Amino acid sequence: MKELQDLWKQVLNKIEIMVSAVSFELWIEPLEVLDFPNAEKLIVVANTEYAKKQLLKRHNDQLQEAVHEVFGDNVAFEVLDPIEKKEYLKKNKPDANKAVISKEEEHQNSFNPKYTFDNFVVGKCNQIVYAAAHSVAENPGKRFNPLFIYGGVGLGKTHLLHAIGNYIASENPDLKIKYVTCEQFTNDYINSLHGSAKELNINKFREKYRLTDVLMVDDIQFISNKNETQEEFFHTFNDLFQNNKQIIIASDRPPKDIATLSDRLKSRFASGFIQDMQIPDFETRVAILRKKAQLEKYSIDDEVINFIAEKVDTNIREMEGLLTKVYFFATLLGKKTATLEEAKEAFKEDLDEKRDDLSPETIINAVCKYFSVSKADLVGKKKNKEIVEPRMIAIYLTCELLDLPLVVIGKTFGGRDHTTIIHAREKITEQIKENGKIKSLVGAVKEIINNDNN
Ligand code: ADP
Ligand code: MG
Repeated sequence: MKELQDLWKQVLNKIEIMVSAVSFELWIEPLEVLDFPNAEKLIVVANTEYAKKQLLKRHNDQLQEAVHEVFGDNVAFEVLDPIEKKEYLKKNKPDANKAVISKEEEHQNSFNPKYTFDNFVVGKCNQIVYAAAHSVAENPGKRFNPLFIYGGVGLGKTHLLHAIGNYIASENPDLKIKYVTCEQFTNDYINSLHGSAKELNINKFREKYRLTDVLMVDDIQFISNKNETQEEFFHTFNDLFQNNKQIIIASDRPPKDIATLSDRLKSRFASGFIQDMQIPDFETRVAILRKKAQLEKYSIDDEVINFIAEKVDTNIREMEGLLTKVYFFATLLGKKTATLEEAKEAFKEDLDEKRDDLSPETIINAVCKYFSVSKADLVGKKKNKEIVEPRMIAIYLTCELLDLPLVVIGKTFGGRDHTTIIHAREKITEQIKENGKIKSLVGAVKEIINNDNN
C-alpha cells in the first residue's frame, strides 16, 4: 500500500503543475487513494459527492493523463464519493468495512458539532418542533415521549436530532444516547439474526438498544414493509418507554401515512407528541443562509442570499448546496466575495428557468398522452405503479417548469397535500440522477410538452 501512496504522490506532483493552485487545493489534494485491484484500476475517493462532480467536470482529462503517465496507459481510473466508497468496501473488502463500521459505532454518540440548537434558525415553520426538541433535551424521558418529528426532505429533522444529542452529551454526559437511522437499526437486527456467532446476536442487539437512556431513530419511514423489524422495534420501544427512557423519532411523513406501519406502532407513536416541520418562509430561508455563510466563513453578497432563497423554497439542503457552490465558484475566479454575477453563472445548470407560457393542464395532458393514462386516474387516488410513476413525473415537471406555490400544485393534482408534492418532486429528482430510464421518460414528456405548446 505504501508503494501505491508513493505512486499517487507522483500523480499529484504532475497535476499540481497542470491546474490552478485553488483547484488543486479544493479538488485534488483531498483525494484519498482507496484501492488498486489487480493493478488494473486506480480507485480514489473524493470527500463529498459535490467534490467528485466538480473534479470530473473540471479535471477529468488531466487526472487521466497523469494517472496514465505514472501507472501506465492501460490503467483505468475511477473516482468514488463517500457513499460509493462504503458500497465498494462492503462489496470488495468486507473485513475493511467491518473496521469502518465498528469505528462508526464507537463514535455513534459523537454528533455533528455544527448541528446544535444555537445554529438552528427558528421561524414560524419550526418553532414548535424546536421548543419540543429543546424541552426533551433538557428533560429527557419526562415530557413529550415519544417525540415524533416529521417533515419534508432537507427541513432540518436530522439537524434537530443531533442538536438534542449534542445538548444532552454536554449537559448530561452520563446519559447513554443512541442515534441510528432506520436503516442501521434494520441492518443491526438482520445481522443479529443471520450473522455468524462472532457477530451480533439477538441478545446483544437487544442489550445495545435497550440499555440506552435516549434512543433516536432517524428516517423511520423506511420501516414500512419490514414487518419483523417493526415487531422488534415495537418491543424495543416498549422496553424503553416503560423505563421512562426518551424515544425520539424523525420521519418524512406522519405515522398515519407510513404504509403498512403496524397499528400497534402507530398508536405508540400517537401516545406521545407528534409535530411537523413546515417549509420555511422567505425571511427564515434568508436567515438560515446567513447563518450558514457565517458558520462556514463564506463571504457572500446579500443579493446572492436573497437570490438563492427566492429560487429554492422547499429544501434547505439544496439552498445550502447552492451557497457552497457559488462560494467555491467565486473562489476559483479569485474573488473574495461572491456576487450575483457569479451566482447566475454558477447556477446555470441547477435552476431550470420557469416558464410562463405553460399551464399545469399542458403538462398533465402531455403525461397522459405519453403514458396512455386518463386524466382522472392521473390526478386520482389509484396507487398502482402504472399510474403512480406518471403521476410523480407530472408533479415533478409541474414543480420544475412552473412557478406555482406547492399548495396550488397539490390542488391541481386532486387535492394532494404539499408534502406529497415535495415527496414526488424529490423522488423523481433522485431517480433522474440514478436511473437512466426515468431521465429519458421525463425527457420524452418534455418533448411532447414543447411540441404541443408550439
Ligand atoms: P432533514 O433531516 O429534514 O432531511 P437536515 O437536518 O439534514 O434535513 O437539514 C438539511 C440541512 O439544512 C442541514 O445542513 C441543516 O443544518 C440545515 N438546516 C435545516 N433547517 C435549518 C434551520 N432551521 N436552521 C439552520 N440550518 C438548518
Ligand atoms: Mg435527515
